Amino acid sequence: TDQTALLRLKLEISVKGPFIPVPILSFASCNVPQKLLQNIEAAGYEMPTPVQMQAIPAALIGQSLLVSAETGSGKTASYLVPIVSYCAKFSHQQFSNPKKPLAMVLTPTRELCIQVEEQAKLLGRGLPIKTALVVGGDAMARQLHRIQEGVALIVGTPGRLIDLLTKHDIELDSISILVLDEVDCMLQRGFHEQVLQIFRALSHPQVLMYSATIPKEVEKIARLMVKDINIVSVGRPNK
Ligand code: ADP
Ligand code: MG
Repeated sequence: TDQTALLRLKLEISVKGPFIPVPILSFASCNVPQKLLQNIEAAGYEMPTPVQMQAIPAALIGQSLLVSAETGSGKTASYLVPIVSYCAKFSHQQFSNPKKPLAMVLTPTRELCIQVEEQAKLLGRGLPIKTALVVGGDAMARQLHRIQEGVALIVGTPGRLIDLLTKHDIELDSISILVLDEVDCMLQRGFHEQVLQIFRALSHPQVLMYSATIPKEVEKIARLMVKDINIVSVGRPNK
């Protein structure tokens, strides 16, 4: 409606896609577990940032997204809130903690992966969201063992993940959400083939891609991977 258009204009949000829900103005107005809302509050997040206002409700209804928003705008929580919510609801429905991974976040570096896992633990506190970090520099055997014990979320770099997947039989069918963080880097030379290899091992997950800027070339590749992708840009484009 006009009101939604005005709100997006004010927030400098532009969207491209068949149907993207209205931005949320508070975390409480999205349908996520109470415990997650408490964790968000405990993290000191009073209000969602613009990228969170738009990406969270869209991700929560299962849409695949290609999102651009400047560095420091809170992109991490904009995918972790939906992931934590999904994992919590899933394990609630199964009456047990998930034994198979439900979500995977890929980032280009070990350091970023560590930060993402830390934030996932913070938001998932008290909820059944075990995480596994799959990055270089740590013993692969321990990472494998951790996954085999049963984790909901895998956070890793493409190289180490492929190493692990080619040497061991790991069930990835259960992964319903795939995040590519720093997607401008992830879909360009160097990482592109590795990311596609991992993507092909999954069975049609919801795909959430984030970056500060999205080059046209990356948008093209993203559309080839996910044909019904929605595009969300926050802030003035290409500034
Ligand atoms: P980006 O990935 O967009 O560069 P981050 O996800 O790393 O940004 O977030 C940057 C900082 O903002 C982090 O310290 C994070 O904890 C904080 N942050 C995220 N969302 C909020 C929020 N809604 N309110 C306050 N701080 C937030
Ligand atoms: Mg980031």
